[in-house]
Amino acid sequence: MLDLTDELEKTRKIGLWRVLKRYKPIGPVTGELDGRPVINFAANDYLGFSFHPKLRAAAAEALSLYGAGGTASRLVSGDNVLYQELEAELARLKGCEAALIFPTGYQANIGVIKALAKKGDVIYTDRLSHASLIDGCLLSGAEIRRYHHNDLKILKKWLAGTGSFRRRFIVTDTVFSMDGDLAPLPELSDLAKRYQAILLVDDAHGTGVLGDKGAGAVSYLGAKDVPVQIGTLSKALGCLGGFVSGSGELMDLLVNKSRPLIFSTALPPSVLAAAFAAVRLLKEEPVWQKKLTENIDYMRRVLSAAGVTVSDDPTPILPIVIGDADAAVRLSLALLDAGFLAPAIRPPAVPPGGSRLRITVSACHTKEQIDGLMEALMRVTGNG
Ligand SMILES: *Cc1c(COP(=O)(O)O)cnc(C)c1O
Repeated sequence: MLDLTDELEKTRKIGLWRVLKRYKPIGPVTGELDGRPVINFAANDYLGFSFHPKLRAAAAEALSLYGAGGTASRLVSGDNVLYQELEAELARLKGCEAALIFPTGYQANIGVIKALAKKGDVIYTDRLSHASLIDGCLLSGAEIRRYHHNDLKILKKWLAGTGSFRRRFIVTDTVFSMDGDLAPLPELSDLAKRYQAILLVDDAHGTGVLGDKGAGAVSYLGAKDVPVQIGTLSKALGCLGGFVSGSGELMDLLVNKSRPLIFSTALPPSVLAAAFAAVRLLKEEPVWQKKLTENIDYMRRVLSAAGVTVSDDPTPILPIVIGDADAAVRLSLALLDAGFLAPAIRPPAVPPGGSRLRITVSACHTKEQIDGLMEALMRVTGNG
């Protein structure tokens, strides 16, 4: 018999109980959470593209032309004509030879790592790498070594050490998803080159946000020689789907070997069409990236003035580290009462003792909304 009571009770006891909350979007940064109106500081729709009229029109057109579903794996009959143009556009965005789309960013990460690494290889990865990167590493069967966050010294020591491996990889987020800081990509790329390792980066939160026309963190930081770059269509691009960019050969390998690509259904045509519109918008309407940058600057200034430590990196992820999980949840609930959605993030998404509010900024927030959040924060923490 399936008895889950003990396990559930344990989760409840250690204060890590989670429930799904019904959210009804109204606009890019407004909605209703369990029926209450909120201003959303929780989403990753950094440019507000999920609500952009051009994306909605493109999705509606593709829906009526090609139907609702992806209908089959890409290798069977799901490789809709829309994939080709979108992948070409993504390769251009990333300055790479080619790109390949997966059903989600999570699947891209596990699918790419598993296709490249295996037993007899070693993967060096940041302690704070995203769960999907870690799952990919585990699935690969390679030896995994996790270095302290952005600790190049220890990484260099390991790379210089002995050990015979078939391939060596360095795997990292570009923008860390819960901390919002950047990985030192040029230095990592230099190390990879010097020690003949393969650098694989996950630019889920950099794509569309950082760099010229949203090219991403690699371009923003001026890193050279990053052979495997993963991104997602589900964050700043406002849609769904993961992608990898790199050489044409890499894509050939993935088409032949990567199980999430082979054994999962293709994306719905409406999503592909919307994503194509989104990538085009990065070039056609740079105003969104500009507005986002202004809002990030503004939010960083007001947080800093309120005594919150903010990282130096201009990303839309701004954590307020609380420490205790219960305290973070209480703070988040108090903000919710004031009409602001700022989620508490607890272990295992962050290390124990690192519970926090994770605030994200969008191009579509107004100064009044940001000020409102800050006033509420001051009020509920008793600082205002
Ligand atoms: C969100 C996220 C992913 C997963 O992307 P999805 O497209 O949502 O599956 C992968 N890596 C990082 C760093 C992320 O934040």
